[in-house]
Amino acid sequence: MFELLKTDFHTKARLGKLSTAHGVVETPVFMPVGTQASVKALDPRELLEMGTQIILGNTYHLNIRPGLDIIRAAGGLHRFMNWQLPILTDSGGFQVFSLAKIRKIKTHGVEFNSHIDGSPLFLGPKEAMEIQRVLGSDIAMVFDECPPHDAPAREQKLAVERTIRWARECREQPRGEGQHVFGIVQGGTNAALREECAKALVAMDFDGYAIGGVSVGEPEPEMLKAIELTEPFLPAHQARYAMGLGTPAQMLELIARGVDMFDCVLPTRVARNGTAITRRGAYGLKGGGYKADFRPIEEGCECFACKHFTRAYLRHLLNVNEILGLRMVSVHNSHLYLKLMADVRTNLAAGTFADFYREFIANYVPSKKVLDARKAASTER
Ligand SMILES: [Zn+2]
Repeated sequence: MFELLKTDFHTKARLGKLSTAHGVVETPVFMPVGTQASVKALDPRELLEMGTQIILGNTYHLNIRPGLDIIRAAGGLHRFMNWQLPILTDSGGFQVFSLAKIRKIKTHGVEFNSHIDGSPLFLGPKEAMEIQRVLGSDIAMVFDECPPHDAPAREQKLAVERTIRWARECREQPRGEGQHVFGIVQGGTNAALREECAKALVAMDFDGYAIGGVSVGEPEPEMLKAIELTEPFLPAHQARYAMGLGTPAQMLELIARGVDMFDCVLPTRVARNGTAITRRGAYGLKGGGYKADFRPIEEGCECFACKHFTRAYLRHLLNVNEILGLRMVSVHNSHLYLKLMADVRTNLAAGTFADFYREFIANYVPSKKVLDARKAASTER
């Protein structure tokens, strides 16, 4: 499924190719998040124009609304939302443990109440794989337990034990035609747990591996530590995916640590508050300073918003709550993420990634606002 084309000489960065039933994905890749069968505020034509190769969908949310019967009748998620390229679906484990009111964790899954209407539901490995089979995603994720980053050691250990057991059950379930399945490594920042979980999953021979339990509100150094503790145990010839991450600078840091795939609600989420993300950091476009600023959001950017509109105009739209304003900032932010990955791939192919990486980090000023939004976003995906 994954072809490792090149490994960077100075860092652990990798150039690769992921083959799926709906096409080939070049890695490193950013996957825009379409939790509810829509990447917020963007339509498929815009996503294709900005170079999207694969998007994310979500088992928990789509199972609750519109429900499996509707998606089955539509002929699967690709047809339902008219998206022809690959889709990866999250298993719902993250949402069950972060959004729902849990009634009981059982051997084969979790009894919980829907976060929408409180109705009793059950989701476990069997159910999660069945839902993803009906959704027809190209990559399905195993059902895992994702504890909070500050969970006590005993809880982290139990979560790893359940994650391993549930991964095995997921592995035994039937799959959709051509569907790949990724394992998810948990274990917080505990070196022994990360190793145990990674080794157990690799022994089950999944098509790729995700590093979970990151982007759950932890400080950045802990997130990097969790990645560094896991990566050495993942097979070089398979794809690695860091779930729910991150800011542009964090993605670069993770690529340099050997991660291939990313997803994050950040670009569209902060856009709705009028925050524009650029290669030098983020800024709030609603500020009075942009009232008569007739430059684009980011000079040199090739996105539709930057080619057609000024900061002054977009600021006005945002301040009078015109939908076009937040749509255009979503276009710019998402385009930035996708173009950044394209530039990373170009530099990896040319052997200049280490310089590109160093320069990008030196120029990027992390904004507290965006880092806080990333923390808050950890429940949204
Ligand atoms: Zn732009």
